[in-house]
Amino acid sequence: MPDCPKCHQPVDSQALECPYCRTVLKAYGHPGMKLYRAMDGEPLCTTCAYHEDDTCNFPKRPYAMDCTLYRDRDQGIASPTAGYTPRVRLRVWFSHNLVWMVLIGLLLFSLFITLAS
Ligand code: SF4
Ligand SMILES: [Zn+2]
Repeated sequence: MPDCPKCHQPVDSQALECPYCRTVLKAYGHPGMKLYRAMDGEPLCTTCAYHEDDTCNFPKRPYAMDCTLYRDRDQGIASPTAGYTPRVRLRVWFSHNLVWMVLIGLLLFSLFITLAS
């Protein structure tokens, strides 16, 4: 049974939050999606493999204090979403590309207004 990263009490591996200190342990309310948290005051990015190889485009980088995609650089990179269902992968993709989706939406809306007038 894993420990809560904040209060270090044993918690069920499927628990969405710690029953003792209420720290959120899973992202998007999905038990299969672990939410990594920085516990020493240093952003997770400082030890993340995706920051080191400059492949992360997550908006919180380089100051992420919590992240679903964190990979310890000492353990290497191995398919971060390997255990996720397609629905969860789509959620992750959408959350990481939300800025582009909004910009494309605004561009299409502007184009529509221009053509309509
Ligand atoms: S995946 Fe998360 S922890 Fe890693 S660099 Fe990107 S934002 Fe930081
Ligand atoms: Zn706890």
